[in-house]
Amino acid sequence: MSGHTSSASSPFNGTIGHLRILTDPTGVIVNPFSPSPGYVNLDPNNLDFKTLKAVLHLGMSMLESPRGEQILVEIGQNAVNYNRQRNLPCLYSDNVNNIPNYLRYFLRTVRGDFYNVYLTHAMRFQGEGEGQGALWGNNFRDYRPKTHGRIKFNRMVIENLRHVAVIAHDLRGRQDPVSVARYENAMKNFEVGSFLMGITVAHEIVHKWVRYLLGPANAGTPPHISFPGTASGNRGESGWYWESRFLGGGKLENVEDQANPLGWRQLGKLYLVRETAQGQMGRELSRRYIQDILSFRFEGPARPATNSVEQRAELLGKPMARVRLENLPAGIPINVAPEEDSQGRISSAILDPINRMAAHNVRVSAPIRPSVVAA
Ligand SMILES: [Zn+2]
Repeated sequence: MSGHTSSASSPFNGTIGHLRILTDPTGVIVNPFSPSPGYVNLDPNNLDFKTLKAVLHLGMSMLESPRGEQILVEIGQNAVNYNRQRNLPCLYSDNVNNIPNYLRYFLRTVRGDFYNVYLTHAMRFQGEGEGQGALWGNNFRDYRPKTHGRIKFNRMVIENLRHVAVIAHDLRGRQDPVSVARYENAMKNFEVGSFLMGITVAHEIVHKWVRYLLGPANAGTPPHISFPGTASGNRGESGWYWESRFLGGGKLENVEDQANPLGWRQLGKLYLVRETAQGQMGRELSRRYIQDILSFRFEGPARPATNSVEQRAELLGKPMARVRLENLPAGIPINVAPEEDSQGRISSAILDPINRMAAHNVRVSAPIRPSVVAA
């Protein structure tokens, strides 16, 4: 990889510390308000654990890349300045020029002691990820990600990603046309899904970064730190903002490929949607660009495929979130909030036993490919 530099804080081959991935037992709905909600703690040899671990590493590395860090610094400085000028909650009290040092400490701490991760069907709207924040304290040097809320990831997406990784791994090198076609399709889906989940991981940690600096959950995100159509009321959406900057303008749309033989097991197609004078318009993302990202080459902006036609965003296809919603296992509630009390606060009666469960220091590597997951 000549001409390719990585920042010192971005260990393309490294570790994630104290990783704990919890999931709901198959066919059982956990009671989130029980002191021992009955989550299954996944073993590091579990293929879903490996799948999620790989995309956690990818998302973290995006944030740790020079461009990823630069956008996080700008978000941090903007959020702090905005709240200070309006006397809104802001925990950060140092000079804003020192934010890069706080960022490096934050990213290092997150990588060394990762948030509790939930792999669950219980996702609002069946998006790819969602996080909940809590008051984490007020001493920046004493940050504990595992007390600062959790991150949930969509179990169906991760299971489908593991599914195509296994197909690609098993069929690699086969010569008969049926196997070649299945392998090709599995690879394309693996790439799309890994990329999408890497971006999702980064998105959720951007929210944690803003909360880290501002403090209380009700501090909100300044409305201008957003992407058109993603802010709600006077609250911005820092995750979408970071994504759009990282992609070089625009946001991702993940829609169903009706011709895909994998059906609801597919990872869909990815479009890059931009604001134009005609409204939001999308073009399919270049496969080469996605492959660059999976090889940890993060410096270029997102490129559309050269042969893709620009279309109105609402005509791109059925959102994969809707496809997933229609194929949820029976009886799965989509809106379960683990370890929260009925006021939406993290309950230590539930969190403390979870934080005594086993966690693992795991090795991670680049690039992201099926053998990382399935071998
Ligand atoms: Zn968000």
